[in-house]
Amino acid sequence: AHLARIEAVDEKVHAFLHVDHEGARAQARAVDERRAAGEKLGPLAGVPLALKDIFTTRGIPTTVGSRILEGWVPPYDATLTRRLKDAGVVILGKTNMDEFAMGSSTENSAYGPTGNPWDLTRIPGGSGGGSSAALASYQAPLAIGTDTGGSIRQPAAVTGTVGVKPTYGGVSRYGMVAFSSSLDQGGPCARTVLDAALLHEVIAGHDPLDSTSIDAPVPPVVEAARAGSVAGLRIGVVKEFAGEGYQAGVMQRFTEAVDLLRELGAEVVEVSCPSFDRALAAYYLIAPSECSSNLARFDAMRYGLRVGDDGTRSAEEVTSLTRAAGFGDEVKRRIMLGTYALSSGYYDAYYGSAQKVRTLITQDFERAFGQVDVLVSPTTPTTAFPIGERADDPMAMYLADLCTIPSNLAGNSAMSLPCGLAPEDGLPVGLQIIAPAMADDRLYRVGAAVE
Ligand code: GLN
Repeated sequence: AHLARIEAVDEKVHAFLHVDHEGARAQARAVDERRAAGEKLGPLAGVPLALKDIFTTRGIPTTVGSRILEGWVPPYDATLTRRLKDAGVVILGKTNMDEFAMGSSTENSAYGPTGNPWDLTRIPGGSGGGSSAALASYQAPLAIGTDTGGSIRQPAAVTGTVGVKPTYGGVSRYGMVAFSSSLDQGGPCARTVLDAALLHEVIAGHDPLDSTSIDAPVPPVVEAARAGSVAGLRIGVVKEFAGEGYQAGVMQRFTEAVDLLRELGAEVVEVSCPSFDRALAAYYLIAPSECSSNLARFDAMRYGLRVGDDGTRSAEEVTSLTRAAGFGDEVKRRIMLGTYALSSGYYDAYYGSAQKVRTLITQDFERAFGQVDVLVSPTTPTTAFPIGERADDPMAMYLADLCTIPSNLAGNSAMSLPCGLAPEDGLPVGLQIIAPAMADDRLYRVGAAVE
């Protein structure tokens, strides 16, 4: 049924870069066989899923939305891919994304934009716009995203779906193409909080193949989603996430969500996190710096595209020609920014300062979580904007992640879930819930209560 739905609507939505018709059917049949053989499978066995094209999948192309990996078929599965298969989750295909996960609109994909199913002339968020659009257009009931600065939560917010950035280290990064390794985190996307929790449980847990993977039990997210209560909890409203640049309808729905939390028995207080104002600036030094280093491996020798290798050119020239042709503008912009910020003469002034701001932000969270159980804010300052509106203005694009970036810098967990439609444009608004590291279960407890 889902493959038929993809056939019917994805020409318009363009959520998928690759649909694995045969593989999906084979996986579904394998689930039946495993059941028939008496294997006890979990609740998601046989349920279809849309996988962001940043996770390696053995035998199926993985492009990361880039020309530089066009035609590359990975010889191995990411740990997350393997866990999905072990659980019997059926992978329908790979979803569109901003090139190397750099963007907030999926317009930076080398393979063309994805439409927001609520209004196809608008962006579905990014970088994981393919995954969120697949959910919102009922092409898949589950999806996977990655969140470096908001790429799970912001697409969830603007498509009226649920997205969770687990605690950094909660889900293995092995086989997830690196953008900014100290920030990147894979996580679950779904249409309900409980569905996201069930998926979270499948993909989370320690992995010896990822040196930053946390060796501790996965927080009880499913139990929390089933419990769904806020009675007796202290909830902090982040004071800094309001004011200029925030759409009136977004603030209205957010305020109503906070009222609901209060009605349901939570104690709501205002919390100040003064360093959050500098999060965006710090992020746009740290993420490009790490990306400039990570993307050095795309040298035309090891993977994918190779341009100009006609026997007359040096390896260096071929590398240079390939990178010029294979990377898009935003990726090049970040590589240049990052290389500059890491250069010996500027390292302390830029990268060093950004790391200090990162520490201040972590301390703001620590202070806040000394007073409250979770924090809440709008997920994004505005609803989905029209395709093209911010495409030539990187600074305007970067503002989409104002509220989501602090959690990546600090490594804690955060969720976005729908909280109604903005009255002025009828488009979905996201409520963000933020919990301390390894307290991901709180997101689900609160999210399920207000869903
Ligand atoms: N929009 C942010 C960026 O462009 C975040 C992307 C992400 O989370 N992958 O870097």
